[in-house]
Amino acid sequence: MGLPLLWIVIPCYNEEKVLPITAPRFLAKLSEFIKTEKIAANSRILFVDDGSKDQTWSLIQNFSQTDPHYLGIQQSRNRGHQNAVLAGLMVAKDRADVTISIDADGQDDLNVMENMLAAYADGCEIVYGVRSDRKSDSWFKRVTAQGFYRFLRMMGVDVVYNHADYRLASSKVLQHLAEFKEVNLFLRGMFPLIGFKSTSVSYERHERLAGKSHYPLSKMIALAINGVTSLSIKPIVFIAELGAVVSVLGFVGIAWAAVMAFKGATVAGWASIVCIVSFLGGIQLLSLGVIGEYVGKTYMESKRRPRFIISQQTWHDDQSKRSKVETDTDNTLRES
Ligand code: UDP
Ligand code: MG
Repeated sequence: MGLPLLWIVIPCYNEEKVLPITAPRFLAKLSEFIKTEKIAANSRILFVDDGSKDQTWSLIQNFSQTDPHYLGIQQSRNRGHQNAVLAGLMVAKDRADVTISIDADGQDDLNVMENMLAAYADGCEIVYGVRSDRKSDSWFKRVTAQGFYRFLRMMGVDVVYNHADYRLASSKVLQHLAEFKEVNLFLRGMFPLIGFKSTSVSYERHERLAGKSHYPLSKMIALAINGVTSLSIKPIVFIAELGAVVSVLGFVGIAWAAVMAFKGATVAGWASIVCIVSFLGGIQLLSLGVIGEYVGKTYMESKRRPRFIISQQTWHDDQSKRSKVETDTDNTLRES
């Protein structure tokens, strides 16, 4: 077997500040691997422009003209980090032997790519990049991120602790990922479900080199809720259990009230009744909300809308019949 053909997949949303710094670093790393004969010479760096509103796409186009190792695709609009990564991986899966997805902002240590490739050479099909510490994060980000993983675990979602989307995946794994048709994506919860031999490598995560984070607390909470509801129905089971417990308590209460009434002792206090009624009302509304979340998600999933639409790419491809536009539902792409 020859040297593996590597595609590095990099989602970019409004990254005009950081790309000029990090792109040459990605290329330097790729060239180093080519020189030391770890990967094939025609390996590539694939930027996925996630519908940026700044100069990101024209930067990517310029890169692709300066060096043939740089490639770019553009999403027709902003679809979010997860969909951008998926678009890149699905484009890479039929063209590369192995892919590494990594953020554009230089936070993830490029040096561990070497360890990832070594693990791949050892037969691992998935290698998770795991942060060894969170020193570079603010106290708030650290605490909320830890809460994020605890919450996911509690809710029955199997995720690799402190792993974001810095990950090596072989094309074999990606062929199977393509079979996971959900529209709501939570990639780091999906990869463990694919199986195959996997391992993790740890690294220290740095601060962003430039620009600012696109993940405020609100987006993190949305990602966590999406992760849970996409991958687990534990919240619904939990509601059923809670319902059972509250019902038993209710029965005990009725029995107690009946006994008291029989004894002739009137139960005093409307306040306690109001408390109980509003408590139960609250639980019911909350439960309805959680179930509604699943119903809504089922509705959205049932539409089977494409998860990405690629409007432009920097290269001409003989493989695809339609020269420029690829979508998720494009079967020529999927089955080729
Ligand atoms: N990103 C994207 N689409 C979005 C938001 C973010 O493609 O809608 C990319 C972004 O360009 C970066 C990566 O996802 O490469 C991670 O985003 P960010 O660094 O803002 O998140 P953080 O590291 O702060 O969690
Ligand atoms: Mg970042």
